[in-house]
Amino acid sequence: MIFTVAIDGPAAAGKGTIARAIARELGFAHLDTGLLYRAVGLRELEGLDPVAAARELDPEGLEDPRLRQADVAQAASRVAAIPEVRAALLDFQKGFARRDGGAVLDGRDIGTVICPEAEAKLFVTASDEARAGRRFRELAAAGHDVSYEGTLAEVRARDARDSARDAAPLRAAGDAVVIDTSDLGIEEAVGAALAVVRERLGAR
Ligand code: C5P
Repeated sequence: MIFTVAIDGPAAAGKGTIARAIARELGFAHLDTGLLYRAVGLRELEGLDPVAAARELDPEGLEDPRLRQADVAQAASRVAAIPEVRAALLDFQKGFARRDGGAVLDGRDIGTVICPEAEAKLFVTASDEARAGRRFRELAAAGHDVSYEGTLAEVRARDARDSARDAAPLRAAGDAVVIDTSDLGIEEAVGAALAVVRERLGAR
């Protein structure tokens, strides 16, 4: 069975949590596409050429805990604006999206570029403050030395760069269902997303 769930949205809106929950619930494979760009961003911080790093990337080896760091997120957003970096990561993502058994991908351009034919498309968003608050608590709980103000600035800078770039900018696909998680708990957000996906699954 081929069935793709495309989940896009700005930083820290809850895409990953929703994507993992849908994948678990439906038995689909999940790909956090941000990790691909973070892995390239990390290599760039280490002094490597980002295009070469993207071409050599092993998409199965994305376990490095440093990928969660705020400086790596910023580097990811910088290298993600380079068309050759995006091109190098395209085939893997397209193949993953159409693998047999169902797939959930979360990122910025899944419903617009990677898989415009996705059977279910969600655009998950939330206010800047709600997103920064969540990301701050997540990073602080993991022991990172961060402040709320710094996290808010970081999230806004990344969204601005991701939205303004020419190559696959962050935007909702015309046929995406928008879910605003500002005032939703995790269970409510997951429930709203699952309802959309189940409806599309049933319609086939
Ligand atoms: O989702 P995450 O915060 O891990 O993404 C890190 C960065 O990678 C984003 O800010 C964005 O610049 C880039 N990205 C992208 N396209 C995707 C996923 C992530 O450009 N599909």
